[in-house]
Amino acid sequence: MLSDYIKNITPSATLSVTATANQLKAEGLDVITFGVGEPDFDTPEYIREAGIRAIQKGLTKYTPVNGILSLREAISEKLRRDNNIDYSPEEIIINSGAKHSISTALQAICNPGDEIIIPIPYWVSYPEMVKLVGAVPIFVQTQKENNFKITGEELLSAITPKTKAIFLNTPNNPLGTIYSKNELETIANIAIEKQIYVISDEIYEKMVYDGKKHTSIASLNSEIRELTILINGMSKSYAMTGWRLGYTASNRTVIKTMGTIQSHATSHPSSITQYAGLAALQEHSPVLYEMTEEFNKRRLYMVERLKNMANIDYIYPEGAFYVFVDISKAFGAKVNERLIDSSVSFAELLLEKAHVAVIPGTAFGMDNFIRLSYATSMENIKEGLDRLEAFIKS
Ligand code: PLP
Repeated sequence: MLSDYIKNITPSATLSVTATANQLKAEGLDVITFGVGEPDFDTPEYIREAGIRAIQKGLTKYTPVNGILSLREAISEKLRRDNNIDYSPEEIIINSGAKHSISTALQAICNPGDEIIIPIPYWVSYPEMVKLVGAVPIFVQTQKENNFKITGEELLSAITPKTKAIFLNTPNNPLGTIYSKNELETIANIAIEKQIYVISDEIYEKMVYDGKKHTSIASLNSEIRELTILINGMSKSYAMTGWRLGYTASNRTVIKTMGTIQSHATSHPSSITQYAGLAALQEHSPVLYEMTEEFNKRRLYMVERLKNMANIDYIYPEGAFYVFVDISKAFGAKVNERLIDSSVSFAELLLEKAHVAVIPGTAFGMDNFIRLSYATSMENIKEGLDRLEAFIKS
């Protein structure tokens, strides 16, 4: 009695690992969690206060479907200032989190059977979101020698007359890699030649390290700007995961269509959230810089520790707050008579034996890996890595 589309959808693995770890913690076990995909910092106070003020002022009624004009203006200004792209407020829609931005964008552009190219590894929700709109995920396995970034040849070989879009995620979850301007130019040229959309997920834009810079593919030229569906939001950069505030910038037709969908689905994100988001963008608080600095310290510590661990390898992370660790050398080993033969069995045994929670790479399409998040305290990171090291040695 259920939808055929739904039968092929799996629940989010990242959220379920976090739930299991939390359950074990509630049972009294001392579990260290490397699973979470959200900043461990509180939403900065000036943003929380703006939310409270919105309630006190009675700004608690319906807002325009595409979001309040002042917030769309602030985003338009942000895109000009930070990303060097001109999007008018009519080319921007506010959604209930970046996840909702992506799913609404897919509803706006996909017909049943359309193909959406997804480079592997991918963020866990992309394939399921594609299937939910009756489109078909076309996976492209990227290669280690390219730091697991999709190349022009790989992209070209996946394009068919049914291709509607490609997913691009930079800085990347789970890899932490960043696409350079040259690499983006290659993708943009192909997208323009073949007339396909680029769904550019830039949610980790503010978390870049080593003096690297984030480039938005839409900023390269006006033709690729027309084909880009730029996704961003406040969850990661402003530690606002629970507020649910994402946004999309694209050409007017895509944004108008997304507005029509949103008008029948959620109407708009919470008015309180929108006013808090406006304050977040209008003030330039040092807290935001401090959060990134703290992530950077943890990243450097983690990389140093992983470098010195035998039998594992990792992708050097330049952005976001994850390290993708190759654990395939552990395959074939036994722990208490149980065989490690996949990222899932590795993660299960690590949780059981060492009380460390990680996300199995299979959630991102690569079973040889696990993902460690450093959105947790330095103390937890030290203890968790000690346990991981002892587990691998054993
Ligand atoms: N895109 C990527 C790559 C993510 O990692 C996440 C969150 O984990 C999202 C989008 C969703 O963000 P939001 O919480 O704003 O829906």
